[in-house]
Amino acid sequence: MLYLENGLMQEILVQKFGGTSVGDPERIRRVAERIKRYYEKGYRLVVVVSAMGHTTDELIALAGKVAKNPPKREMDMLLATGEQVSIALLAMALHEIGVPARSFTGGQVNILTDGNFSNARIESIDTSRLLAELDKGQVCIVAGFQGVDQEQNITTLGRGGSDTTAVALAAALKASECEIYTDVDGVYTTDPNKVEEARKLKQISYDEMLELASLGAGVLHNRSVEFAKKYGVTIHVRSSFNFNEGTKVVSEDMIMEKLTVTGVTLKSDDARMTVADIPDRPGIAAELFQALADKKINIDMIVQSTGKDRLNTISFTLPVAALPDARQAVESLIAKWGSGSISTDENIAIVSAVGVGMKSHTGVAASMFRALAEHNINIEMISTSEIKISCVIARERGREALRLIHSVFGLDKIH
Ligand code: ADP
Ligand code: ASP
Ligand code: MG
Repeated sequence: MLYLENGLMQEILVQKFGGTSVGDPERIRRVAERIKRYYEKGYRLVVVVSAMGHTTDELIALAGKVAKNPPKREMDMLLATGEQVSIALLAMALHEIGVPARSFTGGQVNILTDGNFSNARIESIDTSRLLAELDKGQVCIVAGFQGVDQEQNITTLGRGGSDTTAVALAAALKASECEIYTDVDGVYTTDPNKVEEARKLKQISYDEMLELASLGAGVLHNRSVEFAKKYGVTIHVRSSFNFNEGTKVVSEDMIMEKLTVTGVTLKSDDARMTVADIPDRPGIAAELFQALADKKINIDMIVQSTGKDRLNTISFTLPVAALPDARQAVESLIAKWGSGSISTDENIAIVSAVGVGMKSHTGVAASMFRALAEHNINIEMISTSEIKISCVIARERGREALRLIHSVFGLDKIH
């Protein structure tokens, strides 16, 4: 281990504590005690924290009481305050036990983002201020989930975005590892709060974790995994309530035991939009999805079927929250094309199986479809990639399907 002149290690460790972990004053004190242990070992520490408990949800509800459709800029201004409370309290708790610490907002440590309020992307981080503070022996406490755009507007990174702040800082500071402390002790084969038989994984590859995170495994924000993969940062997901080894998210060549299916997910916050009777000619799909992309709407599955009289129907899935924006965009296209109609269905769920082993095993999709069929669960849409299979089913059958697929691939039996 290399040590600097001030006696601290050269190694920088980034630790992130989620909302539950800093949910009340007692928990904040406990987090401070944990940080003190690492500080005493000599680590240079950058600590990222989320807003306390359900603060972000409460702020969203509060906004809803004063405006039906609050401007996104003001929404980000409001939501960013949640993290400002927890960084200040954590820094105070550290002072109380003799650890020098300073708190910083995203803007104060130069986390620059694009201007896409409520879902901004980190574009760059200038680490000079943080490095100077670390050299002075300070533990740096940084507000997760927020940055500033070029015009100094406060932006937020999307729900769960504190993970991304932490991993992006780890990458920028060339930290070897980023520890994500949460209320479960690792990444499981599926959400342990939904399926009791879920098993903890020792390791998981970036690509699998990215798919799981994008398909509804809320344990990590998907962009945090993108950063980790791009910059080779190991993410260690662990519990803030014990000292157990958690799950390491690493590159595929570091995985010892390759499973065919590593995890399954259920996503229940998507809807389906069907655009029927639209002209069947080149360029229509391009126009449709460009209009949705311009509104920054994330489309997942797409199915097109050709009807009669040179008319087409296109169905796709999108977040329920994006329905009003999508409807507006598609309505103006229909007016321009002179034909088409929109219908939507919120009663859907997407159940998915993910695993790098699928690349070399056949019959994985067939097993999943058979299991659903045997339980009379109708598959409404299908999408696959090299390492995942997703099916749209009725929302009320979601939990049952999740449990079923978890057991079909033997995930309840791994150790
Ligand atoms: P934090 O506030 O610490 O960021 P989150 O609520 O965002 O915590 O993430 C932790 C939660 O993620 C767990 O409580 C668990 O219910 C959920 N989760 C979903 N899928 C998984 C999974 N595959 N493994 C572990 N946890 C999962
Ligand atoms: N506080 C934000 C949220 O609740 C960010 C985070 O917790 O990661 O989404
Ligand atoms: Mg989270």
